[in-house]
Amino acid sequence: MASQTPGAEEQSGAERLGRIAAISLHTSPLDQPGTGDAGGLNVYVVEVAKRLAERGVAVDVFTRATSFEQPPEVELAPGVTVRNVPAGPYGRLDKTALVRYLCPFVHGLLRAQAEDLNGRYDLVHAHYWLSGQAGWSAAREWGVPLVHSMHTLARVKNLSLAEGDTPEPEERVRGEDELVALADRLIANTDDEAAQLVHYYGASPGRISTVFPGVDLETFTPGPRAEALRRLGLPADTALLLFVGRVQRLKAPDVLLRAAARLLEDDPGLRDRLVVAVVGGQSGSGCAEPELLSDLARSLGISDVVRLEPPRSREELAHYYRAATATVVPSYSESFGLVAVESQACGTPVVAARVGGLPTAVRDGVSGVLIDGHDPDDYARVLRRMVAEPAWRDRMGAAGVRHASGLSWEATVDGLMAAYRTTLARYRLTVPCR
Ligand code: UDP
Repeated sequence: MASQTPGAEEQSGAERLGRIAAISLHTSPLDQPGTGDAGGLNVYVVEVAKRLAERGVAVDVFTRATSFEQPPEVELAPGVTVRNVPAGPYGRLDKTALVRYLCPFVHGLLRAQAEDLNGRYDLVHAHYWLSGQAGWSAAREWGVPLVHSMHTLARVKNLSLAEGDTPEPEERVRGEDELVALADRLIANTDDEAAQLVHYYGASPGRISTVFPGVDLETFTPGPRAEALRRLGLPADTALLLFVGRVQRLKAPDVLLRAAARLLEDDPGLRDRLVVAVVGGQSGSGCAEPELLSDLARSLGISDVVRLEPPRSREELAHYYRAATATVVPSYSESFGLVAVESQACGTPVVAARVGGLPTAVRDGVSGVLIDGHDPDDYARVLRRMVAEPAWRDRMGAAGVRHASGLSWEATVDGLMAAYRTTLARYRLTVPCR
């Protein structure tokens, strides 16, 4: 597998890389992350596009239009344009329904490019399998290579579903198989994901680049806890246990609530200063996870300590992370876990499930604690220590800042630029007349 560090071929730099078409069909980079279908992928697309543009690579992000009021083009940042492509009915559609609108989306994408006076793209980078399907058609039509990021793998996700969760459909699995065969290069978030692409999808290791996602080290900075707690209207001695992200079964916020209930059973005196904050909105069609969580809090007898908060801006989130005793990420599967890195960048240790990208995002025993499984007792044990031993907690927090400093979006873009150049060089060898 290609590593994060560019090799000689990647560094040749001879390949033209002036303009990229990024595809994010099912969710717009303009959406608020932390609710609905918007999450880490949206943050990734925005952060990478802005930094590519700063380095002179213009990025157009194509997404499906969800309202007739949206202009066809919106400038997200200098050099980054979001292009809203009408395809299917307006309004939010479930991801499973979007397959039906792939053809109109591709048609709209090709037409938008044909009418574009800015000229051609050098490469297509698609995010998530639906975008990959559209991206492959566009890339072939334009005679440019396709780089694809899966972000999550259906076969892997289906191996560790939360109770009651619906498995990813067979058509997605087949779609991912096709992309592994067709994409000129696959970007994996971690070495584990790269190995999974090889193991579960038969991908060729030579066509995979591992590029870690990052964190915005200007927004997510450490700061005094007491001041952050004050901003949230909480007293300085509060023990704040934090969950940030889309509220869905897969992310298991219920494990945090159950663990908090155990803490209070063992130490009723903690009730006066314990706060459990769940920041984020509903995700997934038809389910009412936030309502289920508030029912759960009631049945556990901890409604008085639980705060269910709506999705917050990145700047507001930084205050939550700084204020927290620990951020808890008990997910059943997680392709990387941006929340874990953001928390560490703010100096707050993470208590997370040992799944997916989290062992890369968190240094177990150093900047946080990884837990096997989802038994609330195991989470309660670690959280009890985080609350009771501030010196231990603070040491981990400081280590987290150091760990996160190595995971900047700048490093991500270095890795992506190297992968793009390799892809272009190889593509030119196989299609010499371009
Ligand atoms: N997020 C946000 N506001 C919120 C909740 C979440 O901006 O209220 C962001 C969060 O900061 C992170 C992203 O949503 O950058 C979630 O990414 P992660 O990789 O943790 O999970 P995913 O959504 O990809 O499953």
